[in-house]
Amino acid sequence: MLEPKSFEDQALKFVGREIYETFFRGYTRKQWGYEPSQLPSSILKRLPIRFNYDDNYYSSSYQGIPKNGYTYIIEKMLDHPNITVHLSTTFTRDLAKKYEHVFYSGPIDAWFSHCAGRLGYRTLDFETIEEDGDFQGNAVINYCDEDVPWTRISEHKHFTPWEQHDKTIVYREYSRFCEVEDIPYYPIRLMDDKELLNKYVMMAKKEKNITFVGRLGTYRYLDMHITIAEALEVADKYIKSVSDGTTMPTFCVNPLS
Ligand SMILES: Cc1cc2nc3c(=O)[nH]c(=O)nc-3n(C[C@H](O)[C@H](O)[C@H](O)COP(=O)(O)OP(=O)(O)OC[C@H]3O[C@@H](n4cnc5c(N)ncnc54)[C@H](O)[C@@H]3O)c2cc1C
Repeated sequence: MLEPKSFEDQALKFVGREIYETFFRGYTRKQWGYEPSQLPSSILKRLPIRFNYDDNYYSSSYQGIPKNGYTYIIEKMLDHPNITVHLSTTFTRDLAKKYEHVFYSGPIDAWFSHCAGRLGYRTLDFETIEEDGDFQGNAVINYCDEDVPWTRISEHKHFTPWEQHDKTIVYREYSRFCEVEDIPYYPIRLMDDKELLNKYVMMAKKEKNITFVGRLGTYRYLDMHITIAEALEVADKYIKSVSDGTTMPTFCVNPLS
């Protein structure tokens, strides 16, 4: 078989038709709203395929979650006299004039008021269920069948099995196309999106004193560890550019790669 281009080709190469149709096809159609044959193989290449009982999502040697949770880490980071947080404030081009340099992590097409069109995203609806005891015995269970409308159920207390909780809270996730008023979650990045992204990248490169970062700023599917690593690299680059008197780039990664 030639090098797989679509999600479907990649899946058939990895696991064969039976497992593809049992586990991948229905879930992918629900999650992305497209036929797997229309989607790029890169989506599947991100997922680990294992033939053992390791149910971790990642294969990294060291994995964990912060002892006191993420909120605590972020609160400690923001607790600094040079940092002011403005909640519920949409950052706009007008506000940017007040700052020497902006690191923009909002959607790149929104920065340009969607003047060339809207990039495609998937959004999610979450249904919350509270119950006593244990709901599903696992942190996350995916529902691959198309006759089940949700894609997965997460039961957060299983992420921290060392804690004891009598009650439980679970979230059912329903995926759909992101409309104007919705929160954009997953960049779809089909061919049309990439062409549109190219236009916005060209426009962005003409901007001054701004660096587009993160999942929405660069319109890429990013996991958290990659986002954090890139943010640290951007910070190092900025500190160096200030001390060298050089210009900070508009992008520190290529959004089109
Ligand atoms: C449902 C879901 C599950 C995920 N699960 C995992 C997982 O298990 N493991 C993992 O590693 N990664 C996971 N990810 C990916 C992870 O969430 C992202 O990698 C990470 O959040 C990206 O960080 P970011 O700062 O680039 O973007 P975000 O976290 O999206 O932050 C961008 C922020 O900018 C704000 N914003 C946008 N526009 C403006 C504006 N104009 N003015 C002011 N603020 C604005 C947004 O409200 C948002 O708060 C998941 C993502 C989703 C959607």
